[in-house]
Amino acid sequence: MNKRVLVIDRRPHIGGNAYDYYNEAGVLIHRYGPHIFHTNSQRIVDYLSRFTEWRPYEHRVLGQVDGHLVPIPINRTTLSVLYGQNFTEEGAARFLAERAEPVASIRTSEDVVVNQIGRELYEKFFRGYTRKQWGLDPSQLDKSVTSRVPTRTNDDDRYFGDTFQMMPLHGYTRMFERMLAHPNIKVMVNTDYREIKEDIDYDHLIYCGPIDEFFDFRFGKLPYRSLRFRHETLQQEQFQPVGVVNYPSEDVAYTRISEYKHLTGQKHPCTSITYEFPSAEGDPYYPIPRPENAELYKRYQALADQTPGVSFVGRLGTYKYYNMDQVVGQALTLYKRLQEAAASGAEPPRQALRA
Ligand code: UDP
Repeated sequence: MNKRVLVIDRRPHIGGNAYDYYNEAGVLIHRYGPHIFHTNSQRIVDYLSRFTEWRPYEHRVLGQVDGHLVPIPINRTTLSVLYGQNFTEEGAARFLAERAEPVASIRTSEDVVVNQIGRELYEKFFRGYTRKQWGLDPSQLDKSVTSRVPTRTNDDDRYFGDTFQMMPLHGYTRMFERMLAHPNIKVMVNTDYREIKEDIDYDHLIYCGPIDEFFDFRFGKLPYRSLRFRHETLQQEQFQPVGVVNYPSEDVAYTRISEYKHLTGQKHPCTSITYEFPSAEGDPYYPIPRPENAELYKRYQALADQTPGVSFVGRLGTYKYYNMDQVVGQALTLYKRLQEAAASGAEPPRQALRA
């Protein structure tokens, strides 16, 4: 399309929440918590591969439960350790089936787990973690939230089941820098787009911020969940056996600890870790999936549909709990639409993008 592009970010850096950097000790860390790339889409891998090489990485998570460190998602090993017996796959499946409490209509994040594995395991693994993470009981959240985490009866201890699981070899920030390294692209950080939007001439605005803020909260605020991060660097090579350890118990305020060297493969005499403390205050990180919020979002979406020259994308722009690959897919789809509109000489698409 040969368009000229100005990328504007309120923050002092590019890359949004996927921003990573070398800290004072020289360890590559993620400022906004662990970002792990996984997708089933060849198209998305192909696109990103124009800007990065990859490091194969299969994410593994352990949970601190009843004094044990066990695989999450729950698998055969998890059950064997917790219940002190050596389950076969069939035995594990039977065990879960006996405990499952059928729920007639599965709507919430509680229903979906209790229906599958029963209340005891639900309480050990999901209830406390979810209450901390969202400030809501799982019964108040859509089933889509806890459905992100499967249950297995085999020995697969990978967090994700996707075909492609890997990390950008030199980090996310480097990948974004290469994406932006083009004579038609200019970058402006430390800037709220509203500070300059009257001063520049543009055809089309692609907005990735919170949609309710764009419309000055006309219908009220859309709720988002935030996180506070405690980053630490330790004078030891390794802190924990895997990239992420979850703490589902409500006895500690954090939900998980991430150790980046597992993700990045970096060799370094020190290691850096991050504790995540969920919070109502702070930058918006997660839209909160529940019916009343979806209703409110729909009103903003209708407004977006009637706002010419603006496209809304991303977790905040479309109020969807998207993974990174889904956001890339959404962006590529928007690009295609804009390209088609430009080719046909039509106005750019007016409606907010629906993935
Ligand atoms: N979850 C949980 N216990 C866990 C892991 C996840 O209850 O040990 C629930 C929790 O509600 C969480 C959701 O599943 O918010 C999705 O987990 P995921 O790891 O996908 O969250 P993200 O990495 O996006 O924060």
